[in-house]
Amino acid sequence: MKIAVLPGDGIGTEIIAEAVKVLKTLDLKLELETAPVGGAAYEAAGHPLPESTLKLAKESDAILFGAVGDWKYDKLERALRPEQAILGLRKAMGLFANFRPAICYEQLTHASSLKPELVAGLDILIIRELTGDIYFGQPRGRRTAPDGHFPGAEEAFDTMRYSRPEIERIARVAFEAARKRSKRVTSVDKSNVLETFQLWKDVVTEVHKDYQDVALDHMYVDNAAMQLVKAPKAFDVIVTGNMFGDILSDEASMLTGSIGMLPSASLNDKKQGLYEPSHGSAPDIAGKGVANPLATILSAAMMLRFSLNQAEAADRIEAAVKKVLAQGLRTPDIYSEGTTKVGTVQMGDAVVKALG
Ligand code: NAD
Repeated sequence: MKIAVLPGDGIGTEIIAEAVKVLKTLDLKLELETAPVGGAAYEAAGHPLPESTLKLAKESDAILFGAVGDWKYDKLERALRPEQAILGLRKAMGLFANFRPAICYEQLTHASSLKPELVAGLDILIIRELTGDIYFGQPRGRRTAPDGHFPGAEEAFDTMRYSRPEIERIARVAFEAARKRSKRVTSVDKSNVLETFQLWKDVVTEVHKDYQDVALDHMYVDNAAMQLVKAPKAFDVIVTGNMFGDILSDEASMLTGSIGMLPSASLNDKKQGLYEPSHGSAPDIAGKGVANPLATILSAAMMLRFSLNQAEAADRIEAAVKKVLAQGLRTPDIYSEGTTKVGTVQMGDAVVKALG
């Protein structure tokens, strides 16, 4: 089982080191190979996703990814910015299905910005389409406005688009995932205003005919954003497009206490996957040894479950994370009075110890 380890920038290197430590503790035959990505790769090879890194990613069973980005690269042309590495990997490997579970651990109910009773026991799964929508749609650009409210003025434009097969395949992923949970899917769209999302709603409804054992409802994205903070436990599986999923999954992250707790998986149709925490490279805390490594460690658990067929090892890691939380260990982002504040490395060590 070959894993491409791409730490990236900022806290990426710190949190990946902890996840690797945890993986090495398990008695599994894993071949881990590290390569630069993002700003680190730009510094080393002049490109955020060098050919050699992409090659390694493609020939691996899974990718364990830290995070990329730093404000210092903001002035680079867009194609050379660190974030392009993620878009490049998603596109080159066809990673169209993004799984973002939002679980509120019992011990962290008070770390959420919502009332404890709203989030206690929360366990929802957001499935975000990842390779289409307005983030990838062409044409896009800047130009002199040919018409509109201010003809002749500078304007910028992007294109929102989805094809039927793109919607079909993500809908199937969502229904299949729901079958393993409480058999409920909420499809989030903006079909009242956007043609793209009218097609989305029509196709999801058609695909649902093959999954009659799963309940389906549709919700507009503005209402979904409201319901997520009003009654988040009413959801189980949410399926939505790239942009709405981007926004809703970050909103959901705060329900769980900290973005530092949220893992994610992005899969293609061969079950090859890229596993990464939902957060970015956090330049504000990079190098201080305070980043929460649990989202990355939990991403490694998802990797074992989804791409490497090692569900038992994944269960062990998840149980170990619950154990360290029960022991009262907290990185600063999830710290509350009466618990013990620890740094990135101590948190990783505690998970290793809890694995027994
Ligand atoms: P961010 O997720 O990096 O940070 C947002 C806030 O959350 C910061 O206050 C940060 O300190 C905190 N935070 C994030 N992860 C944490 C952790 N593990 N433990 C404790 N606190 C944590 O988002 P941002 O500040 O908007 O972006 C920073 C850089 O990351 C930018 O260059 C952005 O483009 C990039 N980014 C990369 C990815 C990715 O690599 N997948 C995703 C999002 C943003």
